[in-house]
Formats: sequence, C-alpha cells, structure tokens
Amino acid sequence: MSFVQTLSFLDNDSIPWKSIIIGISIGKFVFENYLKYRQYQVLSNPSPPKALKSEITLDVFQKSQDYTKTNFRFQFVNSLRRLISNVISIKYNILHQYWSISSDVLLNLSSVLPISISNSLIAQGLVFFGIKKVVDLLISLPFDYYQTFVIEEKFGFNKFTLKSWSRDKFLSFIISSIFSSIFTLSLGAIIDHFGDNYVVYGIAFYAIFILFIFTISPSLLSPLFYKFTPLEQGKLRDEIEELAAKHGFPSRDLYVIDGSSKSSHSNAFLTGLPWNKRIVLFDTLINDHSNEEVVAIVAHEFGHYKYGHTNKLTIFSIADAALWVYSSSGLIGNESLLKEFGFDGNTPGFIGYILFEKVFDFFSVIEQLASNLLVRSFEYTADKHAKDIGYSSSLRSGLIKLLGLNLMATDSDWLYSTYFQNHPDLVERLTAIDYVEDKSLKKD
Ligand SMILES: [Zn+2]
Repeated sequence: MSFVQTLSFLDNDSIPWKSIIIGISIGKFVFENYLKYRQYQVLSNPSPPKALKSEITLDVFQKSQDYTKTNFRFQFVNSLRRLISNVISIKYNILHQYWSISSDVLLNLSSVLPISISNSLIAQGLVFFGIKKVVDLLISLPFDYYQTFVIEEKFGFNKFTLKSWSRDKFLSFIISSIFSSIFTLSLGAIIDHFGDNYVVYGIAFYAIFILFIFTISPSLLSPLFYKFTPLEQGKLRDEIEELAAKHGFPSRDLYVIDGSSKSSHSNAFLTGLPWNKRIVLFDTLINDHSNEEVVAIVAHEFGHYKYGHTNKLTIFSIADAALWVYSSSGLIGNESLLKEFGFDGNTPGFIGYILFEKVFDFFSVIEQLASNLLVRSFEYTADKHAKDIGYSSSLRSGLIKLLGLNLMATDSDWLYSTYFQNHPDLVERLTAIDYVEDKSLKKD
C-alpha cells in the first residue's frame, strides 16, 4: 500500500485541519520558548561556569549575559509576532485571499498581457508569491531594523549604515523571493504534471536544487553581500598555505571577507562542494586574533575539509528533502484540507504543498534536532583534528577570545543547547579536548 493510500483516511471533512495546524504552531511555540526560558535562567547566573572562571574577566562575562539576555527577550517578542501572524493567516484564509487577489490582478491586466500569460497558473503563482513576500517583508522589517540598529548597536556590533542595511535587505529580499517562488512553483508544476507519480521526480528536482544552492551561493551570491579578497601574502598566509598543502587543499581558495563593514562579529567557515571548496575568514577574525590563533581556527576548518563534512551535510539535506517530498504525497490531494483553507479541487499543486508544510511543521522539530546533533558531532571532530595536529593551546585561546569578542553565552542549559545550538558551547568544546585541565595555560 502506498503512502497516499495509507493516509487517504485523512481526506475527511470532519477533520478540523485549521485547529490541528494552529495547535501544532502553538505547541511548537510553547516547546521552544520553554527551552529558551530554561536557557534564560542559566543566563541569569551571577558568575561564570567554573571551567571559565579564570579564562574570562567579570566584565566580559556580564556583558555576554546582558547581550544574550537582550537577544532572548527580542526573540521571544519576534516569535510571538510570527505565531500571531500565522494564526491570523490560518483563521482568515489569507492564502486564499492572496490567490484571489492575484487572479484579479491578472484579470485587470488581461487587456495588456497576452492571453497565454493572463490565463496561466504560473503567472498567477508568481503574482501570488509577489504579494505574499512583500506582506511578509513589511511585517518583519521593523523587527529586523530594531535588532540591527538598537540591539547590535547598543553592544557595539553594528557597522551598517541605514543605506547599506537597506541595500542588503532589498537584495536578499529579491534573491530569496526569486529562489523560493521558483522552487515552490516548479515543485508544484511537477506535482501537477506527474500526478500520483510525482514523488521520484519531485525528489530529483529538490536534490538538484539543493546542489545548485550549495554551489552557486558561495561563488555567485555571497560576493553580492561581501567583498572576497584572496588572503594577502605574508607570514599568516605562509603558515596557512603550509597547512593547506598538508591537507591537499588548493591555497588559491583561501579568502578574506570584509565582515567588518557590517558587523564586528567574527567567524571563519568552509563552504562549497567537492570541486568548489573555499575557506573564508572574516577580516574581523584576523584583526582581533594572533596569527597562531587564526591558524588554529583554520586548522579546525581543515578538519571539516578532511572529513568531508560539507558533503555529508549536503547528503543529509537531500535525504531530509526526500523525506518531505515523500511525506507530502500523503496530503497533497487531500480535498478536505484544501477545502478548509477555501480552495477547491482545481487548486495547483504548489498550494497543496504549502498546506502540507503547515501540517507537517511538527516534523521540523525532529529535523532541527537531527541536523544539530550531526553538526555538533562535526564540530567535535574538527576540534579534535586541530588538537591532533598540534594546535590545542592556540585553538583554546582563539576560542576563548572569539567568545569574548562575540559576547557568546558562557554556559548553556543542556536541553536548550541540544535543540537550538548547532555548535557545542565553549565549556563543552574545551572539555572535549581537555584544554581546561591544562593549568599551565591559565592566565591567573
Ligand atoms: Zn566548525
């Protein structure tokens, strides 16, 4: 029996779909905010965890508590805002209203547009997404503004001007709208075209889309937001090149980006696919750390490279996508679900897919947990790699400095950390590679 047949009993007019979806949204909101509440309690501790007592100053500790707590309060309001707009959208059939408006828009334009466009479902889908994205943007913009120009500003992280912030927001809005609407409309077209057999084609399409995003975003899209320059010649480059050679990593793929033009947060990461890997360092990281510390952090990134972590993550994403597409087949043709949201049986497949995503929102909890557990294990492996090739003490001081400069939380609740954080916290990382035991390195 196929999944479609297994779930066919769900096509039943007596099922209160809207109440179920609102229940799932509220359940997720309560669960996630309960975890955040637990973490908030930890962030209210009067002194740093034992392991870090001699590593960070009281001033840095208090600032990090203050910064992370401020962000938590903001996130709570923001998640409440998202919950409320979601409930309103469900209660008042907002999706169906967008769909009717997009039909009216095309009708009004029918005198100027060729009939093949004004009658096309794809064109109506594009107008539908245009309206939806603009409304979403207008609702979220004041919150984004507040986060950058009030919170980040207060703690000295913000380097945006109103102009550069608006430019980035506009650009990312355009790019994400184009990608998400093309993606959803194409998946919808596959559903409509292949009918009951769409799952295999849908998964293949999704996999290609993921590979496309993973390859093009580092090489094509990131340069729209950051200036990439090859790491400049000098002692630091020589040391990193030596390390790169040992790992068989092409040294032309070492880049620095001007993160300092937007924020004083610092970072380093490895991106791309097998034929297109890059190690990217924020200029802020280079400015604020010693050469040895930067090299140790790069050694950690080489750990990710050596163990093929980005490839493994790509495979995980594709498997995850396959699960979503497969599960969607159980609900896509469900007329009772479409009907409750104001649609009839002639609705295009992408609307069915959007509604399926709403019902399956509970699955994103499991998805997030699985992906975090995977990424956390990668972080431990990469740290261990840096340790094994002799960078333990500089990685240790580099990580402690990163925490202070980014005002990251010094301690975390285990449940919160497992669900929300894809990196182990500093104490966990230091303990995992037994740096904390190394008394000779302590500052006191
Ligand atoms: Zn890492």
